[in-house]
Amino acid sequence: MKVLANDGLAASGIEQLESAGVEVVTQKVAQEQLANVINQEGYTALLVRSATTVRKELIDACPGLKFIGRGGVGMDNIDVDYARSKGLTVANTPAASSDSVAELVFAHLASGLRFLHDANRNMPLEGETKFKEMKKAYAKGRELRGKTMGIIGFGRIGQSVARIAIGQGMKVVAHDPFVENASIKLEFFDGQELNFDITTVSKEEVLKSSDFVTLHVPAQKDGYVIGKPEMEMMKDGAVLINAARGGVVDEHALLDALDADKLSFAGLDVFENEPKPAMRVLMNPALSLSPHIGAATVEAQARIGTEMAEAILSFRDAQ
Ligand code: NAD
Repeated sequence: MKVLANDGLAASGIEQLESAGVEVVTQKVAQEQLANVINQEGYTALLVRSATTVRKELIDACPGLKFIGRGGVGMDNIDVDYARSKGLTVANTPAASSDSVAELVFAHLASGLRFLHDANRNMPLEGETKFKEMKKAYAKGRELRGKTMGIIGFGRIGQSVARIAIGQGMKVVAHDPFVENASIKLEFFDGQELNFDITTVSKEEVLKSSDFVTLHVPAQKDGYVIGKPEMEMMKDGAVLINAARGGVVDEHALLDALDADKLSFAGLDVFENEPKPAMRVLMNPALSLSPHIGAATVEAQARIGTEMAEAILSFRDAQ
């Protein structure tokens, strides 16, 4: 079996596959050359992350292709239903990066509450000449402990966020039309465990009662999950974090809410117009920004590599 990992694969996954006799090539092939290369080299499996797209045309052009793997969660770059209708196996690694995305939420949140996103922009420019003024400007930081974390979308990542929030001494409220309740297990370094049962509530209740709101929903077919009306429901001075998908938050409404000081700041890892976010978004000092790196930790990539290797091997062994 020959595998093309076009957007790369962690060493752990490559080693596992190679030691099971699978050939893995990680040389990147340009999108327009993919069909030719897959056919010429006889690849039966194509692995992608988010960069390479696998549309109907590519699937039709590569009759030898039997397996499509997505290292990560969202499969919007793959025509999944079409591929399956043609008999291909399509697999992703849904759980591997939940903790890394959840930790990034807290990185944005904790840093924004202490103005680090702004201080890191201004210290190199004015740290030497306006130290005291900046010390004063960033004096009213806020803490996590005792605050209410509102989670919209209570699946894998939402629940991982809840775990960290509870560990930080926060209250958690969550909304998810498809999850009624969840048991959140906290595991401690000394082997102790504690379970917390959380029953979800309405979106309105989450928005009205939370100091911080974070989104963990998939891409939506219609409309924003958080637009102007939802932002109006939020507490004055609340914080919004989006590390889910561009397009679930209305960026125009968000900029308006920040300019009006309705929200104190927001953290964005994903953007409506990726990979070229709007300049107004990039330049706004009340935004803590990262370039879609939620799953991009060494640990998550290793877990993705291992999970993907296991999926390929069980596919091969089932043939
Ligand atoms: P999941 O499927 O486990 O959970 C998503 C939950 O959202 C589901 O329980 C679903 O019922 C709920 N949901 C759907 N529509 C909703 C709505 N309108 N309101 C409230 N809840 C709704 O998925 P997950 O693994 O937790 O991933 C969540 C999101 O995170 C996905 O969009 C994924 O693409 C994104 N993600 C981002 C990164 C990153 O790099 N920033 C990395 C991985 C995943």
